[in-house]
Amino acid sequence: MQENIIIADKCPTTQIASWQQQLSQAIRDPAILCQQLALSDEWLPGARTGHQLFDICVPAAYLSRITPGDPHDPLLRQVLPLDDEALTPPNYVTDPLEEADHQPVKGLIHKYAGRVLLIASPNCAINCRYCFRRHFPYSENSPSRAQWQEALDYLRADTSIHEAILSGGDPLAANDRQLAWLVEQLEGISHLKRLRIHTRLPVVIPDRVDDALIGWLASTRLQKVVVLHINHANEIDQAVVDACARLKQAGVTLLNQSVLLRGINDGVTTLATLSERLFEAGILPYYLHVLDPVQGAAHFDVPDEEARKLVASLRDLLPGFLMPRLVREIPGKGSKTPL
Ligand code: SF4
Repeated sequence: MQENIIIADKCPTTQIASWQQQLSQAIRDPAILCQQLALSDEWLPGARTGHQLFDICVPAAYLSRITPGDPHDPLLRQVLPLDDEALTPPNYVTDPLEEADHQPVKGLIHKYAGRVLLIASPNCAINCRYCFRRHFPYSENSPSRAQWQEALDYLRADTSIHEAILSGGDPLAANDRQLAWLVEQLEGISHLKRLRIHTRLPVVIPDRVDDALIGWLASTRLQKVVVLHINHANEIDQAVVDACARLKQAGVTLLNQSVLLRGINDGVTTLATLSERLFEAGILPYYLHVLDPVQGAAHFDVPDEEARKLVASLRDLLPGFLMPRLVREIPGKGSKTPL
């Protein structure tokens, strides 16, 4: 299936698959992933084990940035399920941020003063193995349009809220008709000033940044911030750079948050290269998160002390504006905690 997908920058004279087609044709079978990337058979049993715990999902546009035959490729490690995901070390839980305690209405999480998070889509374009929401009960938090009214009423009633954050899943996995409707409702709430979108889709399938998306994004009165999620410089190819340029033309401020991940970006040169590449693409480094202790992801953990040393070394290499803030999210705290 996925070999039929045509990526824009690879084959400009042939018909290009829409982002929806690319998403629907994403690899969802461990055997196909291993086969397409020429991985030896030894990886398949672990991939099957991990896949049973959290489905595999890798679109072709992302796959094209992975080096075939290299089991240590930093992009592959983000999407390849492993046996380690079945481990259950103490302190690794299904809801590490205790979000269930902060959901006053369906589809809405209110943890921090002045801003509220809306689960705009239960779907993602990629399943990242370290995801802190890999166990999130999306089926219980996917409001219908009628149910959105309850969330919108909550926002209308609290004039201290100035920022709506679209999250998920990945909010941009929702279609533009739904998103345009939701943003129109948000615009009508006079005390809302900002719209923030946390998304990985412009990175995973850059064609997601199409005319329909730019249309509603450019026309809203709300100030727009898009927080991308990029962990390694190899994720930023020319298609991602072009997608970012379109977002900026629509008046979007672009930030990035990364997760510090063992075997993926836990080296000072790797982190410095990421910051440089982000800035070349018009994106400012924002946060470097230590891993949230979610069950299934313990093998990605980098201890706090090592993380602090890495960031201290990074400071010797980068100007201050390219330094991400090293933080941990602690349940119950009113903001992220700097390390
Ligand atoms: S795109 Fe974000 S929400 Fe989706 S699996 Fe990856 S980290 Fe999790």
